[in-house]
Parts: sequence; structure tokens; C-alpha cells
Amino acid sequence: TAIPLTLTFGGRFARELEELAVPWQAEEAPDPQLLVLNEPLAGELGFDPAWLRTPEGTRLLIGNQIPEGATPVAQAYAGHQFGGYSPLLGDGRALLLGEVTDIHGQLRDIHLKGSGRTPFARAGDGLAVVGPMLREYIVSEAMHAMGVPTTRSLAVVATGRPVRRETMLPGAVLTRVASSHLRVGSFQFARVNGETDLLRRLADHAISRHYRDAALADTPYLAFFEAVIAAQASLVAQWMLVGFVHGVMNTDNMAISGETIDYGPCAFMDAFNPGAVYSSIDADGRYAYANQPVIAEWNLTRLAEALLPLLHEDQDQAVALAVESLGAFRAQYSAAWSAGMKSKLGLRPDTHDDVASPLVDGVLALLQEGRVDYTSFFRSLASAARGTPETARSMFADPGAFDAWSARWLALAPDADLMDRVNPVYIPRNHLVEEALDSAIAGDLDPFNRLVDVLADPYTQRPGLERYAGPAPEDFGSYRTFC
Ligand code: AMP
Ligand code: MG
Ligand code: MG
Repeated sequence: TAIPLTLTFGGRFARELEELAVPWQAEEAPDPQLLVLNEPLAGELGFDPAWLRTPEGTRLLIGNQIPEGATPVAQAYAGHQFGGYSPLLGDGRALLLGEVTDIHGQLRDIHLKGSGRTPFARAGDGLAVVGPMLREYIVSEAMHAMGVPTTRSLAVVATGRPVRRETMLPGAVLTRVASSHLRVGSFQFARVNGETDLLRRLADHAISRHYRDAALADTPYLAFFEAVIAAQASLVAQWMLVGFVHGVMNTDNMAISGETIDYGPCAFMDAFNPGAVYSSIDADGRYAYANQPVIAEWNLTRLAEALLPLLHEDQDQAVALAVESLGAFRAQYSAAWSAGMKSKLGLRPDTHDDVASPLVDGVLALLQEGRVDYTSFFRSLASAARGTPETARSMFADPGAFDAWSARWLALAPDADLMDRVNPVYIPRNHLVEEALDSAIAGDLDPFNRLVDVLADPYTQRPGLERYAGPAPEDFGSYRTFC
């Protein structure tokens, strides 16, 4: 059949890195129903959104109709999961359909999650369920709207296939878009499972897709490694600034591109708490909010180990180079985070750290002590900068301490308009996400669509949307997420 696409699918990953690509087919869905389509993203990719809504288009979105030029593959990768090394993970329930060139000329992966068992499935059923796939849609699109680098969600299609979890649940496929699905774990796999030639081709592929400047450097692979470090330092700083807890920062879930990937047990903090953990499987809090920069650095060290053969002929020299490059992570992360915090407080970028740091540390200590809602506090602080401190002040049991802090802060003449551009009003509140998913599973997509709509414009406060702007009610209890 002719597919009315203005785009063609390529199979560059499959062609250039066949050792990492197992040709595979998606399972046939008994009764595919399109639950949500991201029309702006579809347009950006060159798809005709109206066609994607047809039965034929919907079948394309779940890999049941293979577009010309596409070679769906399951990708092989390794990874450290909760610190323990697994030599072979790979896409157990996902397929890379192929790459398309978007309207900006950027190559983007079209990827399916929940498309059936692959040779990497181990004990898994290869499937995904409606709730978590809609959840990834909500959170990834919210991250994008906040300006945080992320994979995107093009569609969620219910398959009509029931999936056995603790109970029987409706199955779904998420059509995910990413600038690539190369992970730290891809390099770990290539390091162990191939000659240096495979590692080099993988690095060249990554450089060509993400870090073209590295190719021009005197030492391209070191420059590539340093570019990944810089991208991750920036990314994790942005997570911290918006109060995002990824939840499962295994090395297979860290993208080389610097995009946030794999929205499993993630959540946004309500009350500010450095120890915030939501994932039901993260018993030790390895991936707690405040650990994220440390874990990112740990993961980048695993990337360094994988890259050593490319960094220098002499492996002692290679280690020395890698260690030196890794040394930049902390400073880069701190610089990005401090700059972001200054913006959140409306302080000029050139505000001296000796002045800004005590204010930042001071306010975070107050928030932690008072278990104050992180997002609404920073948003309401702009009103305090405009001379109406009542809302911010009312968030503290002990307003005196806030007043003392506030007097020092106001002396720096914070810029309230700047604050409104960086402090979101609307984030994916855990209780609202759950409410939207419960309704969707019961057949009513309205709450989901409304939430997605609100989150698409996170920085503009709108009347009538008050219930989207505050923390969960007390009776929501403590929040647990599941993969
Ligand atoms: P994640 O924690 O989502 O990054 O997944 C870790 C590994 O488990 C990856 O190799 C996944 O492809 C695989 N996996 C997760 N869920 C399933 C499933 N239901 N069936 C098969 N493989 C799965
Ligand atoms: Mg994963
Ligand atoms: Mg996952």
C-alpha cells in the first residue's frame, strides 16, 4: 500500500551497527485503537497527522505495517542496573522502527515500546500496558514543554491485547521519538562484545548524530566523551532545578544524546526533600533526588571504561585522560545548577556566588525544614518580588525565618519576570497523573487530554486551572511508582 508520507524511513543504525541490531517484527495487535496522537510532533517529523489517525496509519505507529525503507530492529546493549553489571540487556519489549529526518533536518528515531517479545526479552512478556505508556506520554511531553532535553511521545495505541500483571490490564504500545537510542549501555556492550572496530563505529555513529564538532578535534573520541559529560551535567542540573526524580538511572537508561530517556518510575517532588525516592524497587534510595548528579558521574565513569581503547593506544594514558575529563563533570554540573538557581530566584547571572550561594542554600534549608512544596513555592516567590509575599509566606509554619531570608533576597532586587520564565506553574503532579490514568483506563480520556494540554504551557499561569497548580491533597498519601 502507498503510505502518504512526506518522509522516508532510514535504517542507518541497523546498517552501520549490525552487531547491535537484531531484525525483528512487532507482534500483531488484535484491535489497535489510537488513544493519543501528538499532532505537533507528527507534523515536525513530516507525518500527515490525519493519515496517522486512519486504521492503516495507526498500524504503522505500532509496527504492524512496516513503512518502506524501514528495518525494525531490537537493539543490543548492556548496563549496570542498581550498580550491578548485566552483560546483555537489549530491547526486550521495544523495537527501533527506523530513523526519519524531521523538518529541521535532524535525524530522529521512531521507536516502539511494548511491541512484543524480542530475543532480549528473557522472562518478560515483551508487552506494555496503557497506564504506564500514557504516563510516559504525559511526563516526557511536560519535560519537553519545560525545555528539558527529552525523548518525545508521538502516540499511544491500545492493542486490544490484555496483559497479565498483578491483574489483567489493557495492553498498549508507545511510539517514542528520540534523537537516538544510543545509551551508555550500548558502549558497554560494544566494548565487551566486539573488536575495537565495533566500538569505533559506534562512537563515529554517535559523533555524527550528536556531536559533530568532536570529529574536528585533535582527539575526537576524547572530545566526544567530554561532550557527553557536558550534556549530562546540563541535563541532570535541569532535572534538579525542576524537582524531577528519574528513578532508574541505570547505565542503559542514560542516553548519549543528553536526552532524558526511559520514564518508568519517575516522579516530581512535591515537598522539597533531598532524599525523595518514589520507585518501589529503589529500596536503598540509590536514585534519590539528591543522588542524581553523583549517579550521573558514576555512569559516565562506566562510559569512560568502555571508551578506553579509543582514547589512547597506551591504556594507562587512556585512563589518565578519562580521569581528567571526568574531573570536569562536577564543576560543569555545579555551574549549570547554580546558574539555574540564580534564575529561579530572579538574580542576575553575574550575581557573585558569595552572595547567591548563601541565599540558595538558605532557602532550600527552609523548604526542607518546612516540607514546603518546591514548585509552587518558587512560583509564588515572584509575587514576593513584586511586593506581595503573602502566598509564599503562608507556606511556612514559621514565617519569621522566611521573612529574614526574604529581606536579604529582596535587597538584590530580584527580577520577577525572569522568575516566571523559569519557575513552572504546572508540572505533572503525581495525584493528577494518577487521576488521568485511572480515568483513561476506565475509558474516559478527557482528564488525560486536559492534563496534557495544561502541561504544554507550563510557565503561563491561566485562570481556572488552580487545581493543576498545587500539591497533592493530604489524603493522597506517600507516592510509590512502578516500572
Ligand atoms: P528498564 O528498567 O525499563 O530500562 O528495562 C530494563 C530491561 O528490561 C530492558 O532490557 C527492557 O527491554 C527489559 N524489559 C522491561 N520490561 C520488559 C517486558 N515486559 N518484557 C521484556 N523485557 C522487558
Ligand atoms: Mg530502559
Ligand atoms: Mg523502562
